[in-house]
Amino acid sequence: MCGIVGYIGNQNAVNVLMNGLNRLEYRGYDSAGISIFENDSIKTFKKVGKVEALKGIIEDRNLSSKIGIAHTRWATHGEPSDINAHPHSDSFNNISLVHNGIIENYSTLKQKLIELGYTFKSQTDSEVLTIFISYIYSQVKDLEEAVRLALSEVEGTFGIAIISNYEPDKIIAARRGSPMVLGIGDDELILASDTSAIIQYTRQVIYLADNEMVVLDANGYSTKTIGNETTTNVIHQIEYDLGRIEKSGYDHFMLKEINEQPQTITDAFRGRLLIDEGNSRLGGLSIIEEKLRNAKRIIITACGTSWHSALVGEYMIEHLCHIPVEVEYASEFRYRNPIILPDDLIIAISQSGETADTLAAIQEAKQKNATVIGIVNVVGSTISRETEAGVYIHAGPEIGVASTKAFTSQLAVLALFSLYMGRMRRVPIIEGQRIAKELSLLPEKINQILENADNIKDIAHKFYKSKNFLYLGRGYNFPVALEGALKLKEISYIHAEGYPAAEMKHGPIALIDKDMPVVFIATKDEIYEKMLSNIEEVRARKGTVIAIATEGDSQISKFADHVIYIPETLPMLIPILSVVPLQLLAYYMAVELGRDVDQPRNLAKSVTVE
Ligand code: GLU
Repeated sequence: MCGIVGYIGNQNAVNVLMNGLNRLEYRGYDSAGISIFENDSIKTFKKVGKVEALKGIIEDRNLSSKIGIAHTRWATHGEPSDINAHPHSDSFNNISLVHNGIIENYSTLKQKLIELGYTFKSQTDSEVLTIFISYIYSQVKDLEEAVRLALSEVEGTFGIAIISNYEPDKIIAARRGSPMVLGIGDDELILASDTSAIIQYTRQVIYLADNEMVVLDANGYSTKTIGNETTTNVIHQIEYDLGRIEKSGYDHFMLKEINEQPQTITDAFRGRLLIDEGNSRLGGLSIIEEKLRNAKRIIITACGTSWHSALVGEYMIEHLCHIPVEVEYASEFRYRNPIILPDDLIIAISQSGETADTLAAIQEAKQKNATVIGIVNVVGSTISRETEAGVYIHAGPEIGVASTKAFTSQLAVLALFSLYMGRMRRVPIIEGQRIAKELSLLPEKINQILENADNIKDIAHKFYKSKNFLYLGRGYNFPVALEGALKLKEISYIHAEGYPAAEMKHGPIALIDKDMPVVFIATKDEIYEKMLSNIEEVRARKGTVIAIATEGDSQISKFADHVIYIPETLPMLIPILSVVPLQLLAYYMAVELGRDVDQPRNLAKSVTVE
């Protein structure tokens, strides 16, 4: 689930590994560890807490090694503790292993190993895998084969890296359902679960495929499948710059990423927005154009923030294309034996492209012969490879655990997609041109909202001590209400709920009193007047109202205690603007509360476990 780094080369592995762990910190984790060779034997150091704590126990030791592996853990089996931290070793410290993911059949394997006389120090599934490999090694006396055979019997997901006294010149790594990338430098190889730990050393990478393993040594690397078939690899080029994964003067990555949105939206449109033709060009979908033309229903599946994008996508697509759209939580879709018809199109949305539930939903849909496309940020990720076609959102690495720029870029891509599908079916060129033109104006309009950040900061200062928040919106702004509430929960730990504004009177209204701030997303659209009535209902019960409203709205300030204005745009594009002040509001409240904004407690950036 969390982070892996491995290194073979002429630099001191300790420095590269620790640097890599720092780069992976954004993914959220609870402990960190490292294994290297010292005087021909494996030395392991691990510590619960931040990478800084690990640094504390190794920095005076002058460690030096040409080979090593390192890990940041996000606990699934066993509490975060020094003992449960990775790397894990076998009984004689001959094998050291780091693991991301979950070994689902670990208790059966553990039982079997206990009967064979093995003992365990930790509560983790990962230690079971380590000892299982060690046991198989005792039979076959070949490390690569032992790893391969062990992994053939394992159920669940894993990205692993191993070093061993048995064959001290190599690292063996493998993956299934958990990402693993190999960076190929001059005379050095860097293995990592994420390119951000690699880019400082090389831009040349290989993305390991599912069920693929790789052996690294001083002479290079070789790959094969866990089923023992040879594989060929394509070397890819990492396309972003190191600056994209550094704070560049901002206090937090989240604030940097909120401020990057004018640029990331521009990047999502680049080469795709055809204003004169009133259309968009999505190269990644051309191979399934016929299927898009014939699609009778669309199902969008996603988790978390991407699920909120999906809801906005539903409204956009139904509005422009007149195709029925359903939105499904991937975790529900995968297990409920969904009905999929031959002309259905499935869209999977995921920032990381590694979300386990979304991947499983894709497999389920593929099994039923559906056409599946991906809307993904991370280039080369599993979802981008497991889908028949797709569109990258090109938001660049998103480091803050709470998604911001990926959300607005997903919306931008969904708007491009709706325009493309709409023009294929029923949208006339004039309307297409109007939408395309409005899309092109969004980056500048986001800039205007960002310039108003101080006003939002003042509002945050007034409300950060509140214990509960309600976020209400209707139509296109209903998913934005959900997303605004999620942002606040994630990073400030203030309880917040999003609701369709009209639903409030069916229950949540009972919560309203003078201590309950209510955020209304009340931009000018066809249901604006209805929103004003909903605001009145809150005020009548002494609730405090913060409104997100359209610039030039002279009425709203009579209804709301605080107003944040955003520029006008087409109703279908409002979410791309209206969410920005909510991101800032959550951010500033979390900062006032002294929260760890970029790595909120209990959260991980990409959820590669069920
Ligand atoms: N399941 C393993 C553990 O709990 C690995 C967790 C991770 O992906 O970091 O230790």
